[in-house]
Amino acid sequence: MRVIENLQKIKEEIAAACVKSNRSPEEITIIAVTKYVSVERANEAIEAGLTHLGENYDEGLNAKWEVLKDKPIWHFIGSLQTRKVKNIIDKVDYIHSLDRLSLAKEINKRADRKIKCFVQVNVSGEESKHGLTPEEVPAFLEALQEFPNIVAAGLMTMAPFTENKTLLHQCFHRLKELQLAVQNMNLDYAPCTELSMGMSNDYSIAIEEGATMVRIGTALVGEDA
Ligand SMILES: *Cc1c(COP(=O)(O)O)cnc(C)c1O
Repeated sequence: MRVIENLQKIKEEIAAACVKSNRSPEEITIIAVTKYVSVERANEAIEAGLTHLGENYDEGLNAKWEVLKDKPIWHFIGSLQTRKVKNIIDKVDYIHSLDRLSLAKEINKRADRKIKCFVQVNVSGEESKHGLTPEEVPAFLEALQEFPNIVAAGLMTMAPFTENKTLLHQCFHRLKELQLAVQNMNLDYAPCTELSMGMSNDYSIAIEEGATMVRIGTALVGEDA
């Protein structure tokens, strides 16, 4: 399938989820996750009108960045080793996986501008998942005050791998509630206006629960290089 055809279907699904939840599709940004595909396919995504691309390894990001440069807005979505920060920091606009202060410190040190970060939250409590527990998030946001190059743009989560829709709704709903709570802290460096949640299998549910950025790979660009 061509990216543009997949995109058409996804836009229809997004519109339907917005109707259900009384939201506007304009509130939702699609991040095309290109980690499984070639640079040619990533370029096809850009030509289809997608302006946000996401990668989860420094090598993958750099290989695509060499060709596509600043054509798209780049998102780093994978877990990020502290020593890899210097390899990506000049290329990305958003980092979706801020989950520890040592990483915040390194981002702050290496960045020559403000970087929009998502605090990754492990809502489901699965051991295999990265991220802070919801209870840890307020103190973590307060601690970010030390790092002037970090803007906490929002919260990010990965839902459990399940087809149980009730569980998925619960997971995304909890992140939305946490967002409302942390916005009440009124930290100027942590507006937390964005919610990065929803992937190929669960983006409709995430949107119903308040996602503003969905990270879609397989359903949009496919998964073979
Ligand atoms: C791979 C990945 C995605 C996209 O997954 P799909 O199921 O292919 O849509 C989204 N978010 C993160 C953090 C990922 O690593």
